[in-house]
Amino acid sequence: MQYFLNLCYELEFFVKIAISCTIVQQVFYWFLNKTETNLIMQVILYWLVGSISFYSIGFFIEKVIKTNDSLRDKLIVRVKKVKKQSFPIFTVKGVIIGEMKALISASIILYLAPEVHRGNSLILNFGWFLMRIVVADFCFYVAHWLLHRKFLQKIHLKHHEFRDSSSFVAGHKSFIEYVIVTLTDILPIFIFGYDITQLCAWSIIGNAYNLEGHSSLSIFFIPSDFHDLHHTCFQGNYGIQGFWDRVFNTLNPPTKKRGIMFPVSLIEHRNHNK
Ligand SMILES: [Zn+2]
Ligand SMILES: [Zn+2]
Repeated sequence: MQYFLNLCYELEFFVKIAISCTIVQQVFYWFLNKTETNLIMQVILYWLVGSISFYSIGFFIEKVIKTNDSLRDKLIVRVKKVKKQSFPIFTVKGVIIGEMKALISASIILYLAPEVHRGNSLILNFGWFLMRIVVADFCFYVAHWLLHRKFLQKIHLKHHEFRDSSSFVAGHKSFIEYVIVTLTDILPIFIFGYDITQLCAWSIIGNAYNLEGHSSLSIFFIPSDFHDLHHTCFQGNYGIQGFWDRVFNTLNPPTKKRGIMFPVSLIEHRNHNK
């Protein structure tokens, strides 16, 4: 029973991502449906959506949620304590270089991938996003597992400079790792083409779970200290969350955190109380 419930937590993550992306896609569809967008407009939109959501969600977690004591205590999920580390302050140079990287990669991706229009059917979008998150999690698992092998570790050490997680550690990685992670994330759109409304939705939700995964908090998508444990122990938990680690037997069992927005945890709680 417990094994089944743990699996449900992981499947719940996939479903939540698919539902959230589908909802956000509807908003972009509503705005862009009647507008003709050329490649340059799409590149700028995709870049802005990615950058603005990254900084605003990150600052919201760090400056709003974490500075509210009762909220932070309620959501904190890190069990293993690590030495406090202050995250390096943002420098103008660092932000500009980061944005240039993001703009260049947005241009390359949209230039190379074929454009398609998938409309706004809820079922079709849900199916597409569900497929994307399962594939993205698998590709990330493989790439991340490889980055922990001796011959490739150097590329990944920058990301592991931080054992105490701040949300923004999500974006702290070497250039080569940035390229590898971006490629694993967008692989399906090179094969099946991109729809700009889906791409923007994917970018926002991707930033949300990535920042949450590094925040030491369990807010909506990640109901455990899954990735905190990866930073603390430097092995195990290579996926975005536990599913593929369970399949390939590399799971370092995370501590779950019950939250109001996790249906599976409510079922588990009810079972325990029986
Ligand atoms: Zn790692
Ligand atoms: Zn990390």
